[in-house]
Amino acid sequence: MTEHDATPIDPCAGSDPCRQAVAELYSYLDGELDDSTRGTISQHLDDCSHCLETYEFHDELKAVVAQRCRESVPDELRARILAALVEE
Ligand SMILES: [Zn+2]
Repeated sequence: MTEHDATPIDPCAGSDPCRQAVAELYSYLDGELDDSTRGTISQHLDDCSHCLETYEFHDELKAVVAQRCRESVPDELRARILAALVEE
């Protein structure tokens, strides 16, 4: 609880909801989340254009990778992409 609600800060500046959304993104894309977590991420994507862009990027990336190797994204590549996004 803060009293800084009127301050126009970037909602994606490393805040917890964004970190969670990015961290769960692949599980979300793979449909591996329970309903409650899925709802949280889905709602966040509605509210947060930055994370929505990230989601759409990964959605396309996933489709491309699936086409090319018909397997899931290698863990190493996945980790590198997620690390880059979190550090942004
Ligand atoms: Zn976000």
